[in-house]
Amino acid sequence: AAESADPCCAEPLPVLGRDVTVPLVTGGEVTYAALDYAASAPALQRVWDDVAAYAPYYGSVHRGAGYLSQLSTDLFENARRTVAEFLGCREGDQVVFTRSTTDSLNLLAAALPADCQVFVFETEHHASLLPWRDARVTYLNAPRTPGDAVRNLERALADRDPYGPALVCVTGASNVTGELWPVRELAAAAHAHGARIVLDAAQLAPHHPLDIAELDVDWVAFSGHKLYAPFGSGVLAGRADWLRAAEPYLAGGGASRTVTRRTDGGVDVEWHDTAARHEAGSPNVIGAYSIAAACKALTEAGFDALVARERQLIRTVREGLAEVPEVRVLSLFGDDAPRVGVISFVVDGWNSSHFAAALSAEYGIGVRDGLFCAHPLVRTLLGSAPDEPGECGAPEAAPGERSLNAIRVSFGAGTPDEHVERFVRAVK
Ligand code: PMP
Repeated sequence: AAESADPCCAEPLPVLGRDVTVPLVTGGEVTYAALDYAASAPALQRVWDDVAAYAPYYGSVHRGAGYLSQLSTDLFENARRTVAEFLGCREGDQVVFTRSTTDSLNLLAAALPADCQVFVFETEHHASLLPWRDARVTYLNAPRTPGDAVRNLERALADRDPYGPALVCVTGASNVTGELWPVRELAAAAHAHGARIVLDAAQLAPHHPLDIAELDVDWVAFSGHKLYAPFGSGVLAGRADWLRAAEPYLAGGGASRTVTRRTDGGVDVEWHDTAARHEAGSPNVIGAYSIAAACKALTEAGFDALVARERQLIRTVREGLAEVPEVRVLSLFGDDAPRVGVISFVVDGWNSSHFAAALSAEYGIGVRDGLFCAHPLVRTLLGSAPDEPGECGAPEAAPGERSLNAIRVSFGAGTPDEHVERFVRAVK
């Protein structure tokens, strides 16, 4: 695909589930159109094949002297290097394997230095909004332009205690609007005020090249299952100092270098100061291996081609939705904002949950409905009161009433044109 003369014409990457058929209420069946990539993307066939090729060699990691244990340990540590390369990590950065983005951000929250101030926009996914609640956290209002985001942050940082540690947490691409955030500018603002910054790249990494050094962010967090690699794995990558100074995220084997019994009856522990410090317990070697396989597959496919193709799909969806007067697409930064293939909308006169259910039952299309684990943002975009209900997936509004939740369509490297074309036809 990377070598295709016209990257817009590149084929979708092969993914699992391409041939899955589902029954329709209207009779017959149809191939399933998975348009909920923002929640979990289908695994790339390449990733699946890589994992299957490795599976016979599966063994314990970091423990055994046996040949397969040694091999598994090598593959696990090579996976770390592959991820570091994929992210453009700097000398001395650590790559910690976690369960997910949520896990990665909670790990960083647990590793904050004492008295750390945290700055986070209210527009964040709950995974980036909530882990800091035990710290001194400032929630910033939703900006209406990328420039506002930078100015709001600068204002808040200018007022902060300039001597204590501080952390800014921001998303790279919104899981609601798909809009890209001005990460480089926010990182510059953070650093100008002596703060660190962590990038929630859950939605950015699958759609965009990502370079931690070039963006100049201190940490990046993302999830394997959104990056075409299932198996419950995630990554926190970046500066080693805070991670090394913190208590291990979990206490247990693997994180400890030596454990000794004290004469007073207690136990002393010397913890590792590598990534292993925060990876206690038997690591998810398949998860790590599959993330690395996905990083390789995406790099080989070439982000230029993937981005160009996705742009085409975004255009098809947005132009199609624009032809339906009852549809309102949700956006913070406006129509011209650069974005990834994540688009949320409401349909006048329709309850979003019923609409999403109809897309599934009548067209075999899987989208998401709800508040997308970003309740404050979706409420702002819908013009709801801050305390108005609208739990994920709950059909609160009756048809004809203002919807209290939204519909989200999302797609990526494995999406054939037919899926988005069917979606537009179905909405119409
Ligand atoms: N951040 C963003 C922007 C997300 O979209 C998501 C998942 N929807 C998360 C964090 C959390 O990811 P996970 O559920 O894999 O922990």
